[in-house]
Amino acid sequence: MATSSGPAAGGGLSSRELQIGWQYRAACKGPVSNLFFAPNHLERKEQRLAREAAAKAICRTCPVLTECREYALLVREPHGIWGGLNEYERRQLLARRAG
Ligand code: SF4
Repeated sequence: MATSSGPAAGGGLSSRELQIGWQYRAACKGPVSNLFFAPNHLERKEQRLAREAAAKAICRTCPVLTECREYALLVREPHGIWGGLNEYERRQLLARRAG
């Protein structure tokens, strides 16, 4: 888990580290990538929770979780699971850091 301090809410990561390279080591590449975003059709709450849990389990194995999370926070990514957090959890983390 990233720290709450650091430049540009980057948890100590440089802007270069946040912007390049890490995507190539992502654990969510390929067929599993559809778990990370809501489908185009209506998704019931139980389905969303199950999908997000499966995505977060992949994130827990990901070697670039910190870089991914900090990037999503930096760009205020509004959709999907990034760095093991959904959009609501990212907003909560940003609010805690600001507080
Ligand atoms: S932390 Fe999760 S969303 Fe981010 S690159 Fe890794 S698997 Fe993908």
